[in-house]
Amino acid sequence: MILFKKADELRSYCEAKKKQGLSTGFAPTMGALHEGHISLIKACREKTDITISSIFVNPTQFNDPKDFKQYPHTIEKDIYLLEGAGCDLLFIPSVEEMYPNGIQSTQHYNLGVLETLLEGKFRPGHFQGVCQVVHRLLEIVDPTMLFLGQKDYQQCMVINELIRLTGLQTELSICPTQREADGLAMSSRNMRLSETERKQAVRIYETLSFIKQEIKPGNLLPLQEKAAQFLNDQGFKVDYVAIANQHTLEPVTEWNGHDSLVVLIAAFLHEVRLIDNILIDF
Ligand code: AMP
Repeated sequence: MILFKKADELRSYCEAKKKQGLSTGFAPTMGALHEGHISLIKACREKTDITISSIFVNPTQFNDPKDFKQYPHTIEKDIYLLEGAGCDLLFIPSVEEMYPNGIQSTQHYNLGVLETLLEGKFRPGHFQGVCQVVHRLLEIVDPTMLFLGQKDYQQCMVINELIRLTGLQTELSICPTQREADGLAMSSRNMRLSETERKQAVRIYETLSFIKQEIKPGNLLPLQEKAAQFLNDQGFKVDYVAIANQHTLEPVTEWNGHDSLVVLIAAFLHEVRLIDNILIDF
């Protein structure tokens, strides 16, 4: 695996590979890697000639400075895992390399309702930060395909919109959420859970599965409220339990029994904020 720290060097390398007619796949991350990230690398390897990843804990997407400060860093293990998974290139830029003009953004991305709903509402500025960093990364790497995890459902929608807004030529591939044996969605933030919290954390997935099992056409609010109440009773501080249209993310309160849905949860266990979602397809 080749390591790059400089954007210009990575850009030239990727350009040269594309000129040779090779396709490139890119899976950006914030490090503290787990099998969820590695599944993206595997998908990259299956679908493209050259697999590229990046590790950059992006300061502009953290609305909570404490969360940024406490974000786990495990770079040596990350490199080991990526090499083992067959990643070809790894980009590890500095903040200066990613933000040569400073972190104050001059560009605003018009994300419409995606920025006012759910993560957009509870994490003000988060998606502008995500767009800033992903836009810069995509301009450097210019990948044939971009691999993202369904675990961050709304982020996938935001990046899809970013690609549309900027006219960048990359095909988005969304990979399924990888879970621990008990169902908990793998996440770098799980490392910050105590042993007891780790056991509690699976209630999020259980709640999503419960909603999927119990959902019926008609008014969805009672089910949604019951689920939120259950999580609060289990020691979570719930930001939202939402049932939304899978394509627009608009809330669905009265369901016709046909539209495809996504159920999304964000909740804190002590200081750690966890998110997860489940699709309901018809
Ligand atoms: P992060 O390092 O958390 O910014 O995540 C980097 C990429 O990995 C994003 O596209 C995430 O959606 C994806 N990812 C994170 N957790 C998982 C998971 N459990 N399963 C699949 N993909 C994931």
